[in-house]
Amino acid sequence: MPGFELFGDQERHEVNDVLQNGVLMRYGFDGMRNGHWKAKELEVLLQEKLKVKHAQLLSSGTAAVTVALAVCGVGAGDEVIMPTFTFVASFEAVIALGAIPVLVDIDDTLTLDPKAVEAAITTKTKAVMPVHMCGSMANLDALRDICVKHNLKLVEDACQAIGGTYKGKYLGSIGDAGTFSFDFVKTFTCGEGGAVITNNVNYAKLADQYSDHGHDHQGNDRGAEEHPYLGYNYRISELNAAVGLAQFKRFDEFIQLQKKHYTIIRNELSKIPEVIFRTVPAGGEESYAFINFFLPSLEITRKVAAAFKTEGIDACFHYYDNNWHYVRRWQHLLEAKSLFPLSSELTAGLAKLNQQEFKQSDDFIGRNLSCLIKLGWTESQVQERAEKMAGIIIKSI
Ligand SMILES: *Cc1c(COP(=O)(O)O)cnc(C)c1O
Repeated sequence: MPGFELFGDQERHEVNDVLQNGVLMRYGFDGMRNGHWKAKELEVLLQEKLKVKHAQLLSSGTAAVTVALAVCGVGAGDEVIMPTFTFVASFEAVIALGAIPVLVDIDDTLTLDPKAVEAAITTKTKAVMPVHMCGSMANLDALRDICVKHNLKLVEDACQAIGGTYKGKYLGSIGDAGTFSFDFVKTFTCGEGGAVITNNVNYAKLADQYSDHGHDHQGNDRGAEEHPYLGYNYRISELNAAVGLAQFKRFDEFIQLQKKHYTIIRNELSKIPEVIFRTVPAGGEESYAFINFFLPSLEITRKVAAAFKTEGIDACFHYYDNNWHYVRRWQHLLEAKSLFPLSSELTAGLAKLNQQEFKQSDDFIGRNLSCLIKLGWTESQVQERAEKMAGIIIKSI
């Protein structure tokens, strides 16, 4: 996945363009910038490639999730249904808006279980946020039906799945809004950055305004602009956008490389009957950023994860025991440890979460290993790695 592995001359060239004119900001300073609009160029590229009407670049993926929910009108006291397995940023964004993260079970797709979503809907539910973890997706038709039936917004956190598709459409372009991260370890990197994509012209306008202090971006005099709504600063800088522009120009090459390396590992592990790959919903194609599989039990999975570590198979995660991605280890969230007072509604929501059990998620995450697919490997390195992984698994079961 990490695009930084292929950082090179193109990235340096784009950054040098920005350094030469010195305009490090994405808005304004038209006369000084010698026609260089890196953030705008990258937004157009995202729109064209992902076949979506609007893209708004932002300072991070966390900012993107926050902005996507904000333009959907999610705020104080609203409930957002999201999975127990995600990156902490997904619930951080919900909390930043004063809304309540309602965590529900995942299924063998490693993303939202539609049955668990339906069971969690209350009169306060405003949005459903599937997180397409580790390169593959939730059952988006089922989630879309639920959202239509209950009049909810569908926001896709596609930060880890750029390039994956569902029924011919790119992940992120299917819901009311979709989000990407271009942080240092994602498939395409800006250093730090993110984006919201949407086909909704109003949401696009609100995202552009909200992420820049509510500026309406009319005319050339920033000081004279109106502020139709309160905003915040989630802007990306031109330097970061320049890096992302060079990276994103290599979209097909990066996704193809991921697929090639993924396929070599998959073919090798497929020879072991006890290895069960994650379910990809019908009509879906992964981005191949990770390869995910289940082993027969928690004990075996722990054993394999430990053996991978000692035998030098890096970047394979057993999220059950990992602090970053699974509810079991999010003590700060479960105990509502905030630097500043939270609303009583949010405090009550988190207290409820702290009482919940997620047996179905525990079962799937307990038996899952999630291995990063790197872009920088050579074919023989991948083959060697795949055989080594298979050998360790066979020895452990
Ligand atoms: C990386 C990531 C984010 C946040 O992105 P940043 O750019 O690091 O803020 C959000 N959600 C998911 C699923 C991610 O993997």
